[in-house]
Amino acid sequence: MNFNKSEELFNEAKKYIPGGVNSPVRAFQSVGMSSVFARRGNGSKIIDVDGNEFIDYICSWGPLVLGHSSEVITKGVEEVVKAGVTFGLATEIEVKIAKLITEACPSVEMVRMVNSGTEATMSALRLARGYTNRSKILKFEGCYHGHSDGLLVKSGSGTLTYGSSTSSGVSEDAIKNTLVAQYNDIETLNAVFKAHGNDLAAVIVEPVAGNMGVVPAKEEFLKIMRKLTEEYGALLIFDEVITGFRVSYGGAQEVYGIKPDLSCFGKIIGGGLPVGAFGGRREIMELLAPVGPVYQAGTLSGNPLAMHMGYNALTYLKDHPEVYTNMEEKANKLEEGFKKAIKEFKIDATVNRIKGMLNVFFTKGKVETFEDVSKCNTEIYAKYFKLMLDQGVLIAPSQFEAMFLSHAHTEEDIERTIAANREAMRQIT
Ligand code: PLP
Repeated sequence: MNFNKSEELFNEAKKYIPGGVNSPVRAFQSVGMSSVFARRGNGSKIIDVDGNEFIDYICSWGPLVLGHSSEVITKGVEEVVKAGVTFGLATEIEVKIAKLITEACPSVEMVRMVNSGTEATMSALRLARGYTNRSKILKFEGCYHGHSDGLLVKSGSGTLTYGSSTSSGVSEDAIKNTLVAQYNDIETLNAVFKAHGNDLAAVIVEPVAGNMGVVPAKEEFLKIMRKLTEEYGALLIFDEVITGFRVSYGGAQEVYGIKPDLSCFGKIIGGGLPVGAFGGRREIMELLAPVGPVYQAGTLSGNPLAMHMGYNALTYLKDHPEVYTNMEEKANKLEEGFKKAIKEFKIDATVNRIKGMLNVFFTKGKVETFEDVSKCNTEIYAKYFKLMLDQGVLIAPSQFEAMFLSHAHTEEDIERTIAANREAMRQIT
């Protein structure tokens, strides 16, 4: 397999784009490679500019729940383009998608569309502060909530991969109200509430952490979080940018049976176009401008093209619940296959999975906390990544990301991936 054209493009890209990429996770630096440049996608496959074909488990970092270039999602796009891609006026499709989202998640009585997950979490926090008249927020180490200043503290994803979980350029002032606790650690959670509970505007959490690899929250951890936030009058914000419409149609809140006050969405709800949303209880949401005093806006928010593709995606998912059982079955098969090879070759590795998302951690024992995550061997992961890539399987070029299934992955893809994993594990030893 050669990557000549990708390398050529990467060298050219580096002249004009910092690091050659428009988002750090697209750099393959952490696995010692040049970025792979995509040419097109079809179902579960990506074809790169050198003509290499891969079974894709990045799935655009989550949005492609129905696979690449799904006609279900692009259906009717031409008419939307012809009618005009943006007006700066309200459009009917915004009402339709808002209704769908509120029907999918009972905790979301009203929703506001934005352009990215970053905007969603940033705006949800402002709203929480406006509602509670408090300043402090609590987040968890290893959770990533986008790149707004106040949330770039001990975060996951690219910040974790590239070794600085707190970004330079973020002022002391911007983060002085951001408290950080440990994921799945109930004792610290109780202690933080005891010390700061009355000053907390909100707790923001990924109910399944997907930005330090896949680390599902323990049920008890979320339950206690819900109880404490209620007791102290802080809002509970679920960041469902990854998990929304992925782990089930109603998101992680449906899986765990917990009602947050506010929820943030992105990825799947745009069908692959730039989108985000935040929503929650009516009395909180109605504090937003123009009804209330909390300002939030966007020139392209609720963009007709993004709304159209998002609406197509969500209606399909609503009408085809088998998508979820099917993704879970495939992910379960991968998990079993991976575990078998780990056992066979006696590798220090473990597999975490929830529904249709999973990943392999190269470490001994269970991975349930950030501390467990930080013990993982990233050098072995880099080797594993390359061995998988050479066999036509594309996983995230970082230990700290998830592997995403889509409805388009076939039984044959799964078998091939299990075989590739076995060979990779054999060669790693
Ligand atoms: N929240 C979570 C859980 C995410 O995974 C991400 C991005 O991966 C974000 C927020 C930020 O979303 P965006 O990249 O659309 O700004």
